[in-house]
Order: sequence, then C-alpha cells, then structure tokens
Amino acid sequence: MSTRLHRYRFGKKPPHIDACIRALVNHAFDKVPYIREQYQNAGVSPQSIAGLEDLPRLPRIHRNAYDMRFIERHLRSDAKPSRLHSSPTSGTTGLHLDVYASTSETAYRRMLLYRSMRKIVRIPLGFRIVHIWPGVFGAKEVRHYGLGRVFPVSRKLPLATQAALVRKASPHIITGPTTCIELIAEQILSDGAPFPKCNVLCRGETVFPEARDTMRRAFRGHIGDLYSVEEIGNVAWECRENPGVFHIQTDGCHVEIVDSEGQFVPAGTPGSVLLTNLFNWTMPFIRYEVGDIAALARPEDDVCRCGHSGPTLVQFDGRADDYIVREDGSRLSPRVVISAMRRAFRNFEAENNILIPRYKVEQQSERKMHIQVLSPVPLTEQLRDALREGLMKYRLGPIITIERMSELPLEPSGKFRRIISQVSPSENAGKPIHNFNDDEIQATDGAVDLP
Ligand SMILES: [Zn+2]
Repeated sequence: MSTRLHRYRFGKKPPHIDACIRALVNHAFDKVPYIREQYQNAGVSPQSIAGLEDLPRLPRIHRNAYDMRFIERHLRSDAKPSRLHSSPTSGTTGLHLDVYASTSETAYRRMLLYRSMRKIVRIPLGFRIVHIWPGVFGAKEVRHYGLGRVFPVSRKLPLATQAALVRKASPHIITGPTTCIELIAEQILSDGAPFPKCNVLCRGETVFPEARDTMRRAFRGHIGDLYSVEEIGNVAWECRENPGVFHIQTDGCHVEIVDSEGQFVPAGTPGSVLLTNLFNWTMPFIRYEVGDIAALARPEDDVCRCGHSGPTLVQFDGRADDYIVREDGSRLSPRVVISAMRRAFRNFEAENNILIPRYKVEQQSERKMHIQVLSPVPLTEQLRDALREGLMKYRLGPIITIERMSELPLEPSGKFRRIISQVSPSENAGKPIHNFNDDEIQATDGAVDLP
C-alpha cells in the first residue's frame, strides 16, 4: 500500500500511523497556506517529523484560529470548495466553522463511524437507524445503505410527531444529540404506550445519568455515547461495559492531552484535548485544540473489561458544559454544579409534584452567577435559598441571581448547555480542578464511576 493510502487503512498499526503523520505534515506544509505559515513561524521543518513521537514539536492550533472569512487559507491550495463536501460545526464556543472534505475522505469518515457504532451495539445487515437531525426531511428521504436504512427525523417537528415517526420506523438504533433523544424519550414515556426495544447512541453532548435513566426507561436497550467532532468525525466510542470511558478511534485520529502551556499531562489528569485528523488532507487538522477537556486513562496498554486495548479517554467533562472558574483560579467541574442543582430542586419538585425540565447556570463574572429555571409553577423562597446555598457551598458567587423562565430554548445546534461560564474557560484549561469527593456527586451522578 502506498504511503499516501495508509490514511484509508482500517486497523492502523503504529508504523502506519507514523507514515500517515509524516505524509500529512509534509502535505499540509506544501499545500495549506495557514499551516505552512504557522510551522515557519515556529521554526519547524516538516522533514523533522518522522511520526507520532515528533508530533509535539509542531505548534498546536486553536479552534479560534480558523477564520471562515479566509477559509481557503485552511484548505489545500488545489482544492475547489464547490466540489467538496462541507459540514458546519456547531461547537460550544459559538464559532461557526465549515469543515471541508473530499468524497473519499467523507466515505472513509462514515465507515469509521459505523465501525465505532459496532463496538457499542450490534448492527444487523438490514439495519434500521433513526437519525435525529436538524434538517426537515419527509419520509421519502430514507437513505439506503445496502440492505440497511437510515430514517432522518427532524428535531424541528413537534415532539409528538417525532415520537410517532420514531415508533413507525421501529429502529434498531436511534442516534442524535442527547438532549433531543431525551426529549423524545420523555414524550414516549408520557404517551404510556409500550415502545419496541431499541438501542440509543448519543452524540455531541455529555450523557448525564438522569438522561440515561430516562432513555433507558423509554427504549429499554443499551444507551451508548459517541464522542464525535465535526473536524474529525468519530473520535471515540463509549465502552460498552464502562459508562463514561471512551476508547479512541485510532484509525481516524490521534489524541493528545496537554495543559494550558501545551505540556503533556500525566494519564489520569484532565487537560485540553488536541486532535490530529489522520485522513483529511483537504482541510488538515493537526494538533487541533478543540476546546474539550478529558484525561487519558492509565495505563494505555491495559486490556479493558470489554476486551479492547488501546488509548482511552476518561473524565470527559468539557464537552457540553463549561467549567466554572473560581476567584482563586481553580476550576469546578460542571458535574459538581449539576449535582448541586439537582439536590436543590429535590424538595421543590416533591412538594409540587413536578419535575424541573430544564435549567441553566451562567457564570457571568468571577463573582456573579445567574440561574434560569424553567418551571411550570412559581419559584418559592425556599427553592431560591437552596439554589444559592448549593452554589455558595463551592465558593461560587457571592452575587447569585435567580430567574423563572417560561421557556429555555435549545441552541441552534440542538444541544443544550446547562452550565456556561463567561470567564474564558478554554484559557483556563489545565488549571487545577476542584477535587470533589465521591459523595458530592455520586448521589445523582453515577457516570463518574471510573475503573
Ligand atoms: Zn472497554
């Protein structure tokens, strides 16, 4: 196989990955103006990059460096954007970025996604997959892949219609953004009619235990999670045996975890995720800082309970919700804040016989927190006190405002972030994390169980 084609190989071994990196870096330096400029500024020559081991010599490139107005600077110079596949990202930074790829790159990327899905659930030959997506498609838009079919269901339809379409498709698998599937699950549960058992593969957002429980009750199958980013495709799949543990799709990407200075952090320590796309030469992403936070599991060569061995991510916290940055510079995991909120809501929910469907906690400055609560009934003074205490316990505030909302819409991407910080959380990646003890979160948050 020619060196250039190693990028499309399945089951890449270390020498293949080295060959991919070598070829990719040389190609990007020759053909992609922005990358050449970055490497020249950093004084590195592509010839000095023989493989993975040399990768850290290259500068990392933050997501914010990609400017859509000058997109051609990020593409190979001989590419014709009108003839490429493009997909818009919907990142938590709110910055819009179109990712370009050739037809063969797009096909390989899709095959990798199916391979990752297969690691979690069985996909029969004549599969039926419902894909919850943002477009508006009618039933005739069913896509055929061999004997398999994918049914797109628009998340812009009324929930009852979405639930009915999902029911009609009688799928083996439902996939889409976590919040969207959770809402459909709630609809199905409130309908009360039994739903044929199916598996769920969530994408794009952290799957919190309460969402997992709702989906499990509605669909009764396996609830799995895929860590995918538009710039790469699937990065990792959630281990079937260990919720919250992600095995990296090493055919598609290489993952590094670094602190705010760009230094590697030891396994088990959370840091910023750097991604290198091994197969996209149209719009190369090399040591790309995507803004997520995770830790590498240790040790890498351990065989997992599921039988897989290979690099694995844990403590995946930064995907949907932000870390809160405290006055002393330390960071607080969104999981801790979410658990505190759930505890604060508990009495109020029981007294009023309701469930709070959605809420949002926003850190507006280091000393100011704002909580928005979607509630069918007025908020009580006791609830307001409980919410304030919940945050102040973690030295957040002291200014805490609380607002009852009649609606809290999803973001345009269909994601919903509960915890948002305006205190530049990405710049603080790698800063110390408030070391929560298990009983602070375990009561409501089982997904932090790590091996
Ligand atoms: Zn595993």
